[in-house]
Amino acid sequence: MRKKIIAANWKMNLHVAQAGELLAQLATIPTHATTQVIVAPAYVYLAQSINQLSHTTVHVASQDVSAHNNGAYTGEVSASMLAQLGVQYSIIGHSERRQYYHEDNELLLNKINRCLEHNINVLFCVGEHLVQRNSNTHFAIIKAQLVHTVFKLSEEEFANIIIAYEPVWAIGTGITATTLQAQEMHAYIRGLIVERYNNIVAQHTHIIYGGSCNAINASELFACADIDGGLIGGASLKIEDFTTIVKSV
Ligand code: PEP
Repeated sequence: MRKKIIAANWKMNLHVAQAGELLAQLATIPTHATTQVIVAPAYVYLAQSINQLSHTTVHVASQDVSAHNNGAYTGEVSASMLAQLGVQYSIIGHSERRQYYHEDNELLLNKINRCLEHNINVLFCVGEHLVQRNSNTHFAIIKAQLVHTVFKLSEEEFANIIIAYEPVWAIGTGITATTLQAQEMHAYIRGLIVERYNNIVAQHTHIIYGGSCNAINASELFACADIDGGLIGGASLKIEDFTTIVKSV
């Protein structure tokens, strides 16, 4: 049976004291043995997060990683630096990075490979824009986002990938995909994994949902057969809401 994964994406939020307080609260959330909680703070809070969560089952993710190994890349942070710190996951392909920083498939695949070289699991985000859904091209868009990136990996490498389906029109908008829309896309993605790899790989792959997932809609979404948890933005900053979401599985 697949675990449920609940990942908090703090984005560029919180001051140092607020981060410390939220981490202390996160450390006390009761979780089932079948639930994995992950938190992705800004780079500057990674060491603090790993420290504060060291005695818990909560894992820590970076929100990004450099596509390069090391060298003259001012402002970048390498996978090897993250791994040495104890970071276990990295979010790659978030729509905000695709949109604001023009991250394309080639760059994303380089980032994925840097992570895998350093035993960092990848939370790989895919998602369509509203105009693409409205023109009924959403399935083709998601397929292309997978085919040109994670589907280039070997079966062994792909075992370290978690897919996050995040319709761009749902991120931070308060408009959540319906359970029907989300489950339909998750089942489609799992079918693509069967085609590319095989059924065993597909059954082992975690596919989580992101996009205005909150304390009210989480349980309905997580009850769907192919939805293995959530990537939570806004609602992960409020401990009461995030606790409810974690308990929704
Ligand atoms: C996200 O940024 O990954 C996200 C899902 O954000 P929100 O929950 O705020 O829509």
